[in-house]
Amino acid sequence: MTDDFEDSFPENETDAFEQAPLRLTVDLGALADNWRDMKKRSGSARTAAVVKADAYGLGIEDCGATLYHAGARDFFVATVAEGATLRSYAPEARIFVLSGIWQGQERQVFDNDLVPVLASEEQLSFWMATVAERGDHPCALHVDTGFNRLGLPLDDALFLADDVTRPASFDPVLVLSHLACADTPSSPMNRVQLESFRKVSAAFEGIESSLSASAGIFLGRDYHFDLTRPGIALYGGEAVNGVANPMRPVAKAEARIIQIREAGEGQTVSYGGSFLLKRASRLAIASVGYADGYQRSLSGSGIPLREMGHGGAYGVVNGHKVPVAGRVTMDLTIFDVTDVPVNAIRSGDYIELFGPNVPVDDTARAAGTIGYEMLTGLGLRYERQYLMADD
Ligand SMILES: *Cc1c(COP(=O)(O)O)cnc(C)c1O
Repeated sequence: MTDDFEDSFPENETDAFEQAPLRLTVDLGALADNWRDMKKRSGSARTAAVVKADAYGLGIEDCGATLYHAGARDFFVATVAEGATLRSYAPEARIFVLSGIWQGQERQVFDNDLVPVLASEEQLSFWMATVAERGDHPCALHVDTGFNRLGLPLDDALFLADDVTRPASFDPVLVLSHLACADTPSSPMNRVQLESFRKVSAAFEGIESSLSASAGIFLGRDYHFDLTRPGIALYGGEAVNGVANPMRPVAKAEARIIQIREAGEGQTVSYGGSFLLKRASRLAIASVGYADGYQRSLSGSGIPLREMGHGGAYGVVNGHKVPVAGRVTMDLTIFDVTDVPVNAIRSGDYIELFGPNVPVDDTARAAGTIGYEMLTGLGLRYERQYLMADD
């Protein structure tokens, strides 16, 4: 490389981060702490880590390696490709693939030693044929107990458990099911699914069983079985409705203020002119938009959700809370900074969109969604910085 060519790069990654229009800080220490917290709450059950969708948008490589280092030895991903990526960061771990396996993926599954979670009769018979030909390989079995998403119907699973004709090479190491309403502890659905899953767990005696994701862990010991599967709680998101979130925030998203402008009373802001200024105002134009997962439904006005009376999103800049003004656009969002003292804000400062000062679920609620969708929708334009775990 010529010097010129090298000079055309930022000096190092920190520089790029310091100046990035849009940046994301992932606190890997907080991630590890959250996993240890989930482990404690899981009591005598083992605690897995769910890292599907690029570790909920935060980066499967760094998050996977951190969780492995913290002690996680069971991981769940959604797809075979995610499992293949994770393998080098979690060398000795058991990696379960929640979507199971399709014809053509055998090689990736065997080469990376992935454990497909079989979820239908079709997958089951394909798998039995595959292991008959290729030899023993662990699998897991997903049983539906009321979610009506993936999984064998309950009766089919109970039949399979007692089926003496099933081939010896069929070797499930885990049976699992998924709760539909665990985020609502008072839902009667939880007990119903628990009772069904108890039958499954008993029928597959000697095989480990797993029922609970983050929210289920909070439902208590009955729900823990042998292995718990937390996802969102690891990343600092809210798992249970209506209670204070005990997890440490992991992700901080910040957008840089490109410009601060004055606008007079009676003027309007952004597309549609839906935000009418009732006073002389100061507006900060920040470099984040719906292309970055800062959804249009976070707008301060001019969208159906606001007309229903829910508040728009807000950010925090230098300790001051600032609401979104008018519609969010593709690359830019306007914040009303009128109440921030003039000398407490300037262009080039960063507005926290969510993070330690703005719970990601607050932002999500303003968009009519959940923290999961906020995190997994971040898009490609964030400059990322990973804060290392201490140990
Ligand atoms: C996504 C998922 C999890 C993790 O759920 P969280 O609510 O994020 O903790 C666990 N199990 C299954 C089957 C899932 O699909």
